Amino acid sequence: MATHDAAPQSVQLGDWKLTCISDGTFRLDGGAMWGVVPAALWRSMTPPAADNTIQLALNCFLAERGSDKVLIEGGVGDRWEAKHLAMYHIDRGRNLEASLAMVGVTASEITHAIASHCHWDHIGAWVVKEGDTLLPRFPNAAYMAPQIEIEAALHPDPVRKASYRAEDLQAVLDAGMLTGYHDGDELLPGIHGHVLGGHSSGVAVIRVDGGPSDQQAIFWADVVPTTHHIQPPYIMAYDLNAEWSYNVRSEWLRRASEGAWLGLFYHDPEVPFARIVPDGRRYALQPVG
Ligand SMILES: [Zn+2]
Repeated sequence: MATHDAAPQSVQLGDWKLTCISDGTFRLDGGAMWGVVPAALWRSMTPPAADNTIQLALNCFLAERGSDKVLIEGGVGDRWEAKHLAMYHIDRGRNLEASLAMVGVTASEITHAIASHCHWDHIGAWVVKEGDTLLPRFPNAAYMAPQIEIEAALHPDPVRKASYRAEDLQAVLDAGMLTGYHDGDELLPGIHGHVLGGHSSGVAVIRVDGGPSDQQAIFWADVVPTTHHIQPPYIMAYDLNAEWSYNVRSEWLRRASEGAWLGLFYHDPEVPFARIVPDGRRYALQPVG
């Protein structure tokens, strides 16, 4: 397991250097993370604490190519009350600010900040508080999130309300720096957003094209939250539409395994990078780096 002072892990993918930028860890209920999967099975893969929670990472990814410095996903951030810190065991001993500093990148150098969806644990570090004002953390970045998610976050219905914190988006929106994207959009040359839904109204996976190397990477977001969730039926109880999740997971796991795409895993505390390969009727992991 990574220690607080270990150097961030990087993988070269054609033109892109991909680096895992940790924003710490938190814990969620193991049963909720595993849906209908029996506890006898998931407890061996992700051992729970006495309160039944399992440890989850907040692995953002920095994609660098020349002057492009693209931050994929926005962490949990530092603006949480004591009750939330305790309830979710949020530990930012290692955090986004320090992780970027360790690779020599400043907030003002980030050119793009891309989110897969707008749940509170995915864009919490997009903004900083200065006095009483929330400001975009990355003053020169083009911020992007699925348009469906922007609407869901700003106008959540009762079922979705607890998953969103609108102020993180509002500050970026007020600064005129936020753009909504749609399924299949090219967000910048070589990076596409695929809006899938299922887990949330408009959760996306982010695909990075390595260029001449013909290599591809996929940021799985909450579609495949950890390397343990790589079998299509392993759907979180958090997912809004389990049948839809099953279908999009089946399709994209097949694509990724057929193309030997490099997988980037947001919530896996031990394995940020791994390929998914076919293993009979199931999938297996192929470690990277
Ligand atoms: Zn989510």
